Amino acid sequence: MKITFDQIQVAYEVASAVFDGTLSRADGVQRLHEDHDINAGSAGDFIEDFRRMMMGQEFHRTLSVEATDYFLGRIAKERDSAEFANAIAANYAHLNYYAKLAKGGPQHAKRRIVDAWAAKRSSPTDLGLMQAKFADAVERARADAPTIRQSRLLAAAKLPGKVQVVTEAYVRNPDVAAEVLERAKGICEQCAKPAPFVRHSNRTPYLEVHHRMKLADGGEDTVENAIALCPNCHREMHYGVRE
Ligand SMILES: [Zn+2]
Ligand SMILES: [Zn+2]
Repeated sequence: MKITFDQIQVAYEVASAVFDGTLSRADGVQRLHEDHDINAGSAGDFIEDFRRMMMGQEFHRTLSVEATDYFLGRIAKERDSAEFANAIAANYAHLNYYAKLAKGGPQHAKRRIVDAWAAKRSSPTDLGLMQAKFADAVERARADAPTIRQSRLLAAAKLPGKVQVVTEAYVRNPDVAAEVLERAKGICEQCAKPAPFVRHSNRTPYLEVHHRMKLADGGEDTVENAIALCPNCHREMHYGVRE
């Protein structure tokens, strides 16, 4: 039985709600089956394929060309660009998987659809937001049982998707950095140990210039507000436990 456009549309909405955790998987399948006449197997496939698209994982149940086009269109419009990149990677992984199946094949029409979406630039991702989301996703992955994580790893696309990012940067004064490095004379101004190695580019001790009050918080780019740190102390300053 052919799935209609209306069914594809509602399948997307249900799959998206299940992924976001506002609807249970069982309720999603039931809604698609009972209210929209989609068989339970296909309903589950839509939900699982969407989840794998969001995670950038290879999915196995094939979607129609029409459903693929619709799903990628909504993902491009509604999800962030990292999720869109994951969805593209997952679709390529699926095409490659399906091409090798005995009953499979190259799915040329679908590949053209995926190529066309992949070529469309989605709006650039905020780099800071993307890093924060990644850190959060790592936390959630660590909270899962190792068996769950390993089964996801087996299904994961091996080549990551790419996105364009935007970020804000401060135009720093090179004299401040030079002056602080001169002041430190190769010794970390926090732990008082010598720099751990010599820079390849100019043969000077490797230290990093850190702002005591962050530039992002209105801190000044001045010698007084800057300190030369070894990489360990610098990381600790940003990520360590604060008493
Ligand atoms: Zn140090
Ligand atoms: Zn710093």
